[in-house]
Amino acid sequence: MKKTIFYLIFVSFVFLFPLKTNAQFNNDTQAAFYDIGFGAVVGGIGAIINKKPTEKTGNVFIKGFWQGALGGYFVFESKRLIRATVKHDSYRYFWPSKIVNSFGNSILENATANRDFWVQYHFNIGFNRLEFDLKNKGKFTYKIMPFALYATVNGFINGNLDVNKSLSVGTFIFKSKEPINIEHLGFDRANAYAMTNQIVYDEEFFSISTLGHEIIHIYQYEQLSNFNSYFIKPSKYFDKKSKAIKLYNKIFYTDINTLLFGAVYLMNKNYENIFFEREARFYSE
Ligand SMILES: [Zn+2]
Repeated sequence: MKKTIFYLIFVSFVFLFPLKTNAQFNNDTQAAFYDIGFGAVVGGIGAIINKKPTEKTGNVFIKGFWQGALGGYFVFESKRLIRATVKHDSYRYFWPSKIVNSFGNSILENATANRDFWVQYHFNIGFNRLEFDLKNKGKFTYKIMPFALYATVNGFINGNLDVNKSLSVGTFIFKSKEPINIEHLGFDRANAYAMTNQIVYDEEFFSISTLGHEIIHIYQYEQLSNFNSYFIKPSKYFDKKSKAIKLYNKIFYTDINTLLFGAVYLMNKNYENIFFEREARFYSE
């Protein structure tokens, strides 16, 4: 069984991560197919990984699969709302989009954790992860995401917090102190960049379209967070072994997805061709 799980993880990483792919959407049907398909496969495999010994593998997979697909559909709609707000050239749909996105990712996370799709709802603001256990009268848990915390520190070092924009969008947005140098990518300057779920922008090049582009990157990061559920069992195992790890896991939710997101960029040389860049342009231009 263990071998099967590792095999499934391997396969999903190879096929789902658009590491070397030239995939590009031509229309919304294809874009929806990606989000729904991603949700279904990640959800189905995650559910098997988190299966209880008494449960049947086939049933668990089917449940994770359809719940994941449902979550993926909401993620797709949240991205469409970003396109709508860019078209309106206004902040109008950033918040509705964020709510739909967290709703979709919560369903998807429940799917990958082999839970009923409504059991837990989570909402991220910067490095803050707010969890609501709906099975337990909405019991609230607060956790810190370490990589996102690092991104916040980076934001404060390299920029100034833009309170108005942050409140209008629902995440930390920083105005860069210096021009954003991206010579290592073959360009002189960047309009903005997203780090985990936070944005640093250059005021000279700011537009709603730029913001929309970076928000899509944030959604990609959030979408990858569903792989974190693949590590629930090992994490519980180490909880029992060490008090320090148990305490750590009580305070922190490790956003391993940051590393996965970074890997996609590290493994591609042609920046503009990276799937995540293509997807961001698809919704924001
Ligand atoms: Zn980009």
